[in-house]
Amino acid sequence: MAVENKVVYEYIEEYIRQVQPDLSVELEQIRLEAERDGVPIVKPEVASLILTLLAIKRPKRILEIGTAVGFSACLMSKHLDKDGKIITIERNNSMHQKATENIKRLGLEDSIKLIYGDAKEEMRKLSGEFDVIFIDAAKGQYDTFYRDSLPILADGGLIIADNILYKGLVALEKGAIDRRNRTIYKRMREFIKMVMNNLEFESTLIPVGDGIIISKKLEYTERNDKLYEQDKS
Ligand code: SAH
Ligand code: MG
Repeated sequence: MAVENKVVYEYIEEYIRQVQPDLSVELEQIRLEAERDGVPIVKPEVASLILTLLAIKRPKRILEIGTAVGFSACLMSKHLDKDGKIITIERNNSMHQKATENIKRLGLEDSIKLIYGDAKEEMRKLSGEFDVIFIDAAKGQYDTFYRDSLPILADGGLIIADNILYKGLVALEKGAIDRRNRTIYKRMREFIKMVMNNLEFESTLIPVGDGIIISKKLEYTERNDKLYEQDKS
C-alpha cells in the first residue's frame, strides 16, 4: 500500500482552508512565525474543529498539555467563558519564553496561565476541575496524560487529543512500520484502544489534520453500559 504520510488528501485540506474565515491579524502572525520556525501547531482544520467544540461547550477552565508558542492557547481563548482560564504546560524553555511573549502581545495574560515544566509532574500539582483538557505533547506519553486527566476532568468534560494517527502510520499494519516508529505505533494503538473502550466516556477518532480523539466524560445519568457488550476485549 502506498503511504502518503498524511491522514487527509491534500486537495481536501486545501479546499477546507479556502472556505475557513481568516484568523485575526495577530493570531495569523503567530501562525506564520510558527510555520516559518517549524513549530508543529494545530492545523487549520483542527483549529476550526476545536473552536466549534468550545463554542458548544463554553468551558470555564481549560487545561492544555503542550503549549509550544501559545498558538492553540490563544486560539482557544476565543470561546472561553467570561472569567474563564486556560492553564497550559510546556517543558521546553525557548518555547515557553516565546509563548510568554505571544500571550503578552495579544493581551491575554489574564486568561492564559503558562506553566513551565514537565506535564508528568505539573499535572499532579493542579487542583480543581477542568471542562476541557487538550492533549498535544509527546505522543509516547498520551496514556499518562490521559490517566492523569481523569481525576481533574469535570463530569461532562471533554478530553481532546491531537496527532492520534501520526501521519496515518497508526492505521497501517504492523509489518509496514519502520523500526524507529514501532514504539510510538504500539503506544498510540494501545492508547486508542484504551480510550475507545472506556465506557464512562463517549469517544470518537476523527481523521482530520493528523488525527484527533474527542472523548466526553459522561454524566452519571448519561451512562448506559448495557448498550455495549461487556466482554469484548
Ligand atoms: N498545542 C500547540 C502545539 C504543541 S507542540 C499548538 O497547537 O499551538 C508540542 C509541545 O509539547 C512541544 O513544544 C513540546 O516541547 C511539548 N511537550 C512535549 N512533551 C511534554 C511534556 N511531557 N510536558 C510539557 N510539554 C511537553
Ligand atoms: Mg498537535
